[in-house]
Amino acid sequence: MARIVMKFGGTSVADLDRIRSVAARIKCQVATGDEVAVVVSAMAGVTNQLVGHCQALSPLHDAREYDAVVATGEQVTAGLLAIALQMLGVEARSWQGWQIPLRTDDAHGRARIESVEASTLIARMQAGQVPVVAGFQGVGPNGRVTTLGRGGSDTSAVALAAALDADRCDIYTDVDGIYTTDPRIVPRARKRDRITYEEMLELASVGAKVLQTRSVELAMKQRVRVQVLSSFAELAAPEEGRLPGTLVVDEDEILEQEIVAGIAYSRDEAKVTVRRVPDRPGVAAAVFGPLADAHVNVDMIVQSTGADGSTDMTFTTSKSDLARTIKVLEGARGVIQYGELLTDSEVAKISVVGVGMRSHAGVANTMFRTLSERSINIQVISTSEIKVSVLIGLEYTELAVRALHGAYGLDVG
Ligand code: ADP
Ligand code: ASP
Ligand code: MG
Repeated sequence: MARIVMKFGGTSVADLDRIRSVAARIKCQVATGDEVAVVVSAMAGVTNQLVGHCQALSPLHDAREYDAVVATGEQVTAGLLAIALQMLGVEARSWQGWQIPLRTDDAHGRARIESVEASTLIARMQAGQVPVVAGFQGVGPNGRVTTLGRGGSDTSAVALAAALDADRCDIYTDVDGIYTTDPRIVPRARKRDRITYEEMLELASVGAKVLQTRSVELAMKQRVRVQVLSSFAELAAPEEGRLPGTLVVDEDEILEQEIVAGIAYSRDEAKVTVRRVPDRPGVAAAVFGPLADAHVNVDMIVQSTGADGSTDMTFTTSKSDLARTIKVLEGARGVIQYGELLTDSEVAKISVVGVGMRSHAGVANTMFRTLSERSINIQVISTSEIKVSVLIGLEYTELAVRALHGAYGLDVG
């Protein structure tokens, strides 16, 4: 007997038929004798719609009220799935974040989990009941509902698996595993049986939204075994010793390491250039200090100095942080003394990731050469030990990902 957390994403619970089919899948798992806890997302599209409502009323809305609104999506699905399970004769009960409680800090809209009280859920599971937990939400220090950032149900699931000391956390989604790149963009992408925590963490942080970055971070820290698999696959009895999806594991559990583990893209990027800043010590601090104070996440940065003694600072941030970035920089114009502020949302970031890069030269060069052969201009470059990222025009996203996938020999067949 094992203890398993099963998490179902938005498309897996998109309508009542899907919810019924998920209930049947859970029933099957329970029938094997496993203890099961479930985490659910909002029905597909619901969170986007709720976020849209908040933005329509006020682009810079109160984050506490944003959380009060967007957390409702998961509450609905948890209740519906509990009903669907009961209809199949499975004893089930829904749980919201505050009822568990799953405690977070007070960073509304992007809260971090601080603790998960597991004892009540464990007692219920041991008594044969299936807890159906609303993902994405928790309760802050002041007792108000918080949310964990977009895609946060993955993190709810991993945190719950850690607290329950579960044998595995199964993340059910609309693809049957983790691929060398998004299979929706590259049909010839290859499914991986295993991927390291480190590579998945890097891929998630540069845009592969199959798992939320924090969920991988947490799984790595708490040693949670995470599997990504499809909720659309035929219901079949599990094959002995073989998992149908992709398992996220330690580096030493992978025998043959590929140089490039995967390619990710992010269209949620905006480029900001602060032009003609007097070039003196403290410029970077003057630009990025106020942005950090306003909790704006800055990613790639380049500084280029002209002959006239002024400098241009270019950096990227997420599209959702752009309005705040402009407001902060306009407010600090007197201190920074820049000439002009330029922004561009028509950009995408493409990243190549692999732990093999530590010992193999030439990965970056292959990337630059491949993009130049397609006449794709690189606007900004950044690298880390196991990653190279470039910023390019938004319209070239798919072309670049496909070309790179082929260039690194990742295409199937
Ligand atoms: P869910 O609603 O189940 O949380 P998401 O949409 O958040 O699902 O994540 C699944 C999607 O992630 C897939 O539909 C796929 O388009 C995308 N994706 C991006 N990169 C990858 C990758 N390397 N492997 C698999 N899926 C990926
Ligand atoms: N429903 C939330 C979102 O769309 C959380 C999740 O699906 O993981 O971001
Ligand atoms: Mg997701």
